[in-house]
Amino acid sequence: MPVLVMKFGGTSVATLDRIRRAAKRVGVEVAKGYDVIVIVSAMSGKTNELVGWVSETSPLYDAREYDAVVSSGENVTAGLMALTLQEMDVPARSWQGWQVPVRTTSAHASARIEEIPSDNLMAKFAEGMRVAVVAGFQGISPEGRITTLGRGGSDTTAVAFAAAFEAERCDIYTDVDGVYTTDPRVSTKARKLEKIAFEEMLELASLGAKVLQTRSVELAMRYKVRLRVLSSFEEQSDNAGTLVCDEEDIMESNVVAGVAFSRDEAKMTLVSVADRPGIAARIFTSLSDAGVNVDMIVQNIAEEGRTDMTWSCPTDQVARAQKAVEDAKADGQINYHDVIADTDVAKVSVVGIGMRSHTGVAAKMFQVLSAEGINIRVITTSEIKISVLIDRKYMELAVQALHDAFELEKAA
Ligand code: ADP
Ligand code: ASP
Ligand code: MG
Repeated sequence: MPVLVMKFGGTSVATLDRIRRAAKRVGVEVAKGYDVIVIVSAMSGKTNELVGWVSETSPLYDAREYDAVVSSGENVTAGLMALTLQEMDVPARSWQGWQVPVRTTSAHASARIEEIPSDNLMAKFAEGMRVAVVAGFQGISPEGRITTLGRGGSDTTAVAFAAAFEAERCDIYTDVDGVYTTDPRVSTKARKLEKIAFEEMLELASLGAKVLQTRSVELAMRYKVRLRVLSSFEEQSDNAGTLVCDEEDIMESNVVAGVAFSRDEAKMTLVSVADRPGIAARIFTSLSDAGVNVDMIVQNIAEEGRTDMTWSCPTDQVARAQKAVEDAKADGQINYHDVIADTDVAKVSVVGIGMRSHTGVAAKMFQVLSAEGINIRVITTSEIKISVLIDRKYMELAVQALHDAFELEKAA
């Protein structure tokens, strides 16, 4: 029988009543003749609570134990969803990651899925099970320990199962009815897209649009998974939501497809670093060895052989970054006068594959921000995106102004 993957996010399984509503949707697909793999998230708020408990118990926690605790939210919803389906006379069984098994790397808290053997689930489907409910976000390392896939990782679980089982479709049910030109919670003018290209979705996700985890989009692109984002609260038609698809499958699109933002950015500056070959290598090697994800980098103009070096990284990595450069200074690897961390910044980005062939997007973006009196602290660009770091208090304003200026409320 054809296989369908249906993923329900935190708000879609937040209460027993919502689990029942989600289960009814699953029942509809089973009645159509699909064998269904349901991927569930933890109830909304649960993972944050678990992360909080871990940090309170042990601020510089052992990532293996973080995973042991934080993966548990999904176990509860998987069992409850299977029970709910059974109550509806749908043959269902729950599976934790290790039972499938979802084999991952041993990079705890941000593991990657390496392999999902299909034989265990397939054998159960052959015996008459119609729904496998799988706990999202988790897997098992080569050492036999529980891993998690990074925040938002259930999306990636869903796409990986769709690829491994050659599912007809991977439907991501969430609390909005599709992918919008920007987060509809920030701009009321955000427009729902019928389709979005993999490349654009990949950029939007990696620049902060958390509607899909970045890795899930990468996998969908690589394995040609038919990926759809839709609401678990509204009645569905067959072409509801947003289809994430190849660029060739989209007839018309705007030069800028969307605006993304990320609140969770910090800007760090090493003041007065010696300006000679090898210094940048030493600074960024010590940061990367400490597990800091450096995003944007600027080196200022040197004066009298010294310069300032600025980078951005996630807010929760500032302490680690600070320690890394202080250790490198103590070792005599680098020399600087001061290290400054500014955690009141945000990143705003415009994304669109049309930028490959259109010039002037950057100039327009900078004009719009300047007209709003917003100072740009750092800029980075790639072929299909432009990102700026600005003061966090202007983030919403910047998103709305850019959305207006690029007329994203209108379809191409
Ligand atoms: P789930 O718990 O279902 O995984 P998430 O909270 O992870 O849901 O993702 C859905 C949220 O993503 C929406 O509520 C919305 O606020 C946010 N979001 C950010 N950018 C976008 C966008 N471009 N389109 C749609 N939603 C977006
Ligand atoms: N529950 C996990 C999280 O909040 C995974 C997910 O919902 O995708 O990050
Ligand atoms: Mg999510």
